[in-house]
Amino acid sequence: MISFYPGPSRVHDEIPTYVKDAFKLGIMSINHRSEVFVEMSEKTVRLLKAKLNIPKNYTIFFTGSATECWEIIAQSLITTKSYHLYNGAFGEKWFAYTHRIRKDAEALPFHREEKIDPEKVKFAAGAVICLTQNETSNGTQVSNAIIRKIKKNNPESLIAVDATSSMAGIALDFKSADVWFASVQKCFGLPAGLALLICSPQAIEQVKSINEKKHYNSLVFMHDMMLKWQTPFTPNVLSIYLLMRVMEKSRPINVVHAELKKRAGDWIAFLEKRKSFHHLITNKTVRSLTVIPATGDAETLYTIKKAARKHGILLGEGYGELKTTTFRIANFPALKQSEINILRKVLSKF
Ligand SMILES: *Cc1c(COP(=O)(O)O)cnc(C)c1O
Repeated sequence: MISFYPGPSRVHDEIPTYVKDAFKLGIMSINHRSEVFVEMSEKTVRLLKAKLNIPKNYTIFFTGSATECWEIIAQSLITTKSYHLYNGAFGEKWFAYTHRIRKDAEALPFHREEKIDPEKVKFAAGAVICLTQNETSNGTQVSNAIIRKIKKNNPESLIAVDATSSMAGIALDFKSADVWFASVQKCFGLPAGLALLICSPQAIEQVKSINEKKHYNSLVFMHDMMLKWQTPFTPNVLSIYLLMRVMEKSRPINVVHAELKKRAGDWIAFLEKRKSFHHLITNKTVRSLTVIPATGDAETLYTIKKAARKHGILLGEGYGELKTTTFRIANFPALKQSEINILRKVLSKF
C-alpha cells in the first residue's frame, strides 16, 4: 500500500537500510549519555538547521509527538493568557489541551475560507499566540508573511506555531516566530515516535524566567540537558538516528519547497477538471501546499477510496466533522511522481 494519508504517511525508501545500519552500528543499544549519542544529537541539530534554514541561535529539542509539544508549551511557556487562532480540528485540539492546563486560554476560531488579518491580531504584552501553520484536517495554511506581521504587531508576546504537516516540506520563516514544532511522521517521511520543538532566544528567556519545574518534560530541564545535546529522559535514539540519515541526504528546503509547490499546483489543476469531486477550499490564497483536500458526496467518495485501495493506494479519510464529505491527499516529499501518476489515473475516472 502506498500511503497518501497526510500522516503517518509513506516513509523514505532508504528507511529499511538505515534501520539495518543502526542495528549493525549498535545505535539501538547506545547509552543516551554516551559520547556516540552526543555526537549524533549535535550533528542532527546541525543538519536540521542547515537544511531547513533554522537560525543558528534557535534551540532544537527532541520530544515524542506534536501533542506533547502542545502540553510542554502550556506547562512551561504560558503563564496566564494564550490566544488560539484556529480554523480546524488540530488547532481546536491544541486549544482544548491548553485550556485544561491554563484556564485563561482563549479560543479565536475563524472560518477555513478566511485569511487571517494580522492587523486584527494585537494583544497585550506577555501572551502566547498560537497558530496552526498548516491545518491538516482541512488543507489550509497561514503564510509566512502573515506570521511575520503578527509577530511584528506583538513583539512582546511569543508566537507559537504548529507546523506538524508542513515542516521539512515547505520553507518556513523560522525567525518570524518563537516556537515551532512538528512530528516526523508527516513531511519528514519517517516512522512516528519523535517530534521537534524549536525555540527562539526570546522563548528561551521566557522559559528561564518562568522556571517551571513540575514535569519530566519541563522546558528548563530540557534546556539544561540540551546544552549538552541530551534530553532529561531516554529519547527515541533510533528515530534520531534515522532523522540524521534522512537530513544528510535531503536537499535544501528551498528546492524541496519548489518541487512541492509545483506538485500542489498540478493537483489543483487536476481537481479543477473533475466532475464528481473538487477542492474543498475555494479561497486560493489559503490553500495548503502539503495537504490537498477534496470534497464530493459521501457515496462517490466511498467509491473513490475503494477504487484507490484496489490499486494499492491509501487515501486520507476526512478528519473530524469533514470525515465523510472529504478525502485528503498528502503532498509530502517522500511520495514519488510515479505513485502520484498511479493515483491520478484512478481518480481521473471520476
Ligand atoms: C498530526 C498533527 C498533530 C498531532 O501529531 P502527533 O505527532 O500525533 O502528536 C498535531 N497538529 C497537526 C497540525 C497535525 O497534523
